[in-house]
Amino acid sequence: MEYVLETYELCKQYGKYTALNGLSMHIPKGAIYGLIGRNGAGKTTLIRLICGLQTPTSGRYSIYSTDSTDVNISKSRRRMGAVVETPSIYLDMTAEDNLKQQCLMLGIPSYDEIPEILRLVGLETTKKKKVRNFSLGMKQRLGIAVALIGSPDFLVLDEPINGLDPQGIVEMRELILKLNHEKQITVLMSSHILDELSRLATHYGFIDDGRLIKETTASQIEAVCRKCLCVDVTDTKVLAVVLDNEKIEYEIISNTTAKIFEEVNISDLVIALEKHNCKLNKSYEQSETLENYFIRLLGGAENE
Ligand code: ATP
Repeated sequence: MEYVLETYELCKQYGKYTALNGLSMHIPKGAIYGLIGRNGAGKTTLIRLICGLQTPTSGRYSIYSTDSTDVNISKSRRRMGAVVETPSIYLDMTAEDNLKQQCLMLGIPSYDEIPEILRLVGLETTKKKKVRNFSLGMKQRLGIAVALIGSPDFLVLDEPINGLDPQGIVEMRELILKLNHEKQITVLMSSHILDELSRLATHYGFIDDGRLIKETTASQIEAVCRKCLCVDVTDTKVLAVVLDNEKIEYEIISNTTAKIFEEVNISDLVIALEKHNCKLNKSYEQSETLENYFIRLLGGAENE
């Protein structure tokens, strides 16, 4: 597996306060990696470190396999674009002039990539409009456009959908997917809005108290969170025999409870169970959201 970013036991201390506490994470090439954590968990601190805005107290990281202690790290970092906290844009300029300004800052002699970037972020028609008259969603997308100057293949976005209205959220989602699918850009994004993140992310890192408490993939989460019928019976051994006969997928949770992962006809199930003196006491549908999963994970971390 090729990783765009890896961190090893990364620590960041602010005086006596430990914001990152031995954090190790792995972002595969091509991923949309969702970084999830409650307020103060350490998301922005992590992003600031990998962007080179702050230095770790201990531990290290690598970008495209170049170690953070290597002199070539700034070269690898040039393959990264980032929007951290508020996007760095000039309000009294047009979108195009903001992008020209960024080219100048990065020493890029040509403006050739600007029209394509404006098209990608959906700002090609703003022409002479000053950024101060843009909606928040347009400003956020311009922030991403600025980060795209220099053709990075790794984009880091700190809370890109914070404060956006539903329309702005949809546009941001489509933009991130487009950058990932069309331009093969690997994305690291932090967010509190888990429902939205679950529509985008291919990988997840759950961060709490400066530690990565779980790293997983969207398909693993889907498997854990998938819809099922929970049943409460007098004997799950009997239930297992009945479901095996019908080749229905299930999971036994205890002597009396089980999860069934396929459509079943409840009346047929009751009749089949009764033949073996087993009673169905209760049945209800369940499907876990990413939010429930996260809360359960935090509960586990707190009980350690
Ligand atoms: P949020 O979602 O609220 O932005 P976060 O996960 O991004 O939270 P961080 O901004 O990384 O969290 O902050 C982690 C902890 O470190 C917080 O308790 C914060 O108060 C503290 N912290 C961050 N920056 C500094 C600093 N420069 N000096 C002292 N403490 C800091």
